[in-house]
Amino acid sequence: MGNVFNSDIKFLAGIGERRAYLLNKELGIYTYKDLLYHFPYRYIDRTKVYAIREIDDSGLAYVQIKARVERVQLIGQGAKRRFVAQVADATGRAELVWFQGIEWIRKKVEEGREYIIFGKPAFYNGVLSIVHPEIDIPMAESALRKLCMYGIYSSTEKLNKANAGTKTMTTAIRNLWEIVAPYVTETLPDYILGRYNLIPLKEALYNIHFPQSNDLLAKAQYRLKFEELLALQLSLLRQKNIRINKNKGFLFTKVGDYFNRFYEECLPFPLTEAQKRVIREVRADTVSGQQMNRLLQGDVGSGKTIVGLMCMLIAVDNGYQACMMAPTEILATQHYESVKELVEKIGIRVELLTGSTKKKERERIDEGLVSGTIHILIGTHALLEDKVMFSNLGFVIIDEQHRFGVEQRSRLWTKSDNPPHVLVMSATPIPRTLAMTLYGDLDISVIDELPPGRKPIKTLHFYDNRREQVFGFMRDQIARGRQIYVVYPLIKESEKMDYKNVEDGYESIVRAFPPPQYVTVIVHGKMKPADKDYGMQLFKNGQAHIMVATSVIEVGVNVPNASVMVVESAERFGLSQLHQLRGRVGRGAEQSYCILMSGAKLSSVGRKRLAAMVATNDGFELAEMDLKLRGYGDLEGTQQSGNMFDLKIASIGKDNDILQLVRAVAEEILENDRFLEKSENVLLLQLLKMTKMQKTVDFSQIS
Ligand code: ADP
Ligand code: MG
Repeated sequence: MGNVFNSDIKFLAGIGERRAYLLNKELGIYTYKDLLYHFPYRYIDRTKVYAIREIDDSGLAYVQIKARVERVQLIGQGAKRRFVAQVADATGRAELVWFQGIEWIRKKVEEGREYIIFGKPAFYNGVLSIVHPEIDIPMAESALRKLCMYGIYSSTEKLNKANAGTKTMTTAIRNLWEIVAPYVTETLPDYILGRYNLIPLKEALYNIHFPQSNDLLAKAQYRLKFEELLALQLSLLRQKNIRINKNKGFLFTKVGDYFNRFYEECLPFPLTEAQKRVIREVRADTVSGQQMNRLLQGDVGSGKTIVGLMCMLIAVDNGYQACMMAPTEILATQHYESVKELVEKIGIRVELLTGSTKKKERERIDEGLVSGTIHILIGTHALLEDKVMFSNLGFVIIDEQHRFGVEQRSRLWTKSDNPPHVLVMSATPIPRTLAMTLYGDLDISVIDELPPGRKPIKTLHFYDNRREQVFGFMRDQIARGRQIYVVYPLIKESEKMDYKNVEDGYESIVRAFPPPQYVTVIVHGKMKPADKDYGMQLFKNGQAHIMVATSVIEVGVNVPNASVMVVESAERFGLSQLHQLRGRVGRGAEQSYCILMSGAKLSSVGRKRLAAMVATNDGFELAEMDLKLRGYGDLEGTQQSGNMFDLKIASIGKDNDILQLVRAVAEEILENDRFLEKSENVLLLQLLKMTKMQKTVDFSQIS
């Protein structure tokens, strides 16, 4: 695009210095191009005229009706004085109300006449009311002109105060369009436009701001999303090519004694087909000569740990060290204990390193790492500290990946001359294309099968006023020898309030389940590690009946005899978190239960989430629902925020269909023209250069 697009918006008629300053500050809009790509975030459809009966309480933002004024009245005195017009169409009645501008509106509105009425619907005593509607005489020029769609631009309080809300924006963008329209050139090759039925860029930009019809608006949105996601996918895939060329991977040429002995002597159960497949996939990567970057997705309880362990054994068989990093101390400790138990007898040395490892112990571990006598190191983010050095780190596992920040993960790379192979294990199932996008260029493996013999968990939702009943059920389960988790929300670890919740909760549980008949332990992040361990240990050994905890137990804890998960204030948890929590039970042979407690007042999203939990046990299904309910912006558990890719119009969550198509398109393009050198792809190369990722993180290097 030519120079005009780089002009400063302060030169645009209708903007000026002061508003320009605010647009810079508040919305990051500096140039004509920025403004041109500042799209409305929603549209008001003035092409639709509602019948009054059609309008219900379901939260329509705006409605337009065509109705006859039956009666007008001035009601009330002083501040309460208002002008009310009773209107009706063939289907029902409504009331129009004005508190201001009464004298003016009185002259305008005549009894017996029909008007086009537009405004926000509300209901008072069951009567549809519109306060301060816009009203026009139908068929008048002015009304006809307005009967179209128009966009609403996102704004801020400061902008509104400076009179730079939607109206000003619309006018400014109209002016802008007059200036830039002749210079808008196509950004996608003809063959792509043709093949995927996309409208030209110029038409799309015009209609995104000034939709000429619903249909054109949809086409404009589709075209712009397609382009944006295509640029993103091309760039991700290209980075992958670059990485593969650049990074040599360690070669794990053989499967040796450790692996084979483990397989024959130590494996406590036969692997599922899905687990075997994943091991084969990792195996193929590690003999390819390329560095592996693989995401392993598998629902809670699908058995990712053993797969990770067996991959580490292959590394050890080839003379490399391996490490496994978990997000919490509890989880790291648990991995350590179970891994150690599994592999000790074949002579593998496993150590645990966390923030609370004592100095002496620490020195011993450092020594073992450098000398290479430690084969497998398990730990928390303490593994990332600079002083942790390996002799020959070849394989890294990151468990429950979503808990680690991007930067933390990238630090693992400095632990080895060559980047080690990386396996990221995540139980937050997300659709494949989304995963490929969020996690850069990771290859993906999926465990889509649970170990045999698991009984589906029964999930129930109770309001708080049925607590007694729930307690009764808990007593009954304990009498049958089962153990129970009671979890309280912990939204931010720093929030004192949340700890108060869990501590109060503990007290009320102890009151309802008095010792010595019942033993209840409490575990949360603010406790001393020793106290925490003690509580965990009692519960694991079956000496405690109930464990009261925050969501620190959300990931990974494994106590097969625990068969009931009670989640307090369940409405405060996100869907995937709830699903993770539920995954703590259902690990033994007994029928397990997940009980979601909530207050009586639920938001509609909250209600839908709990209903979804009750309806399905399938993590992938829930993930899809979560996306629909939330959109990608706050896709739970991913640290990356919605603007990581600086998307203007596409939503990685909500536009999954387009994303999927575009991924395939990008793959095909690069297959035919790896460096975008062909003349037909000249525009794509330009597009890529223009949409260089805003953030400097190289996604291919972090996971
Ligand atoms: P997650 O994928 O949630 O990390 P885990 O690795 O913790 O799951 O495994 C959950 C439980 O299932 C563990 O008790 C583990 O020993 C058991 N398990 C794993 N694989 C199998 C299998 N193939 N057959 C039976 N039990 C298995
Ligand atoms: Mg796990």
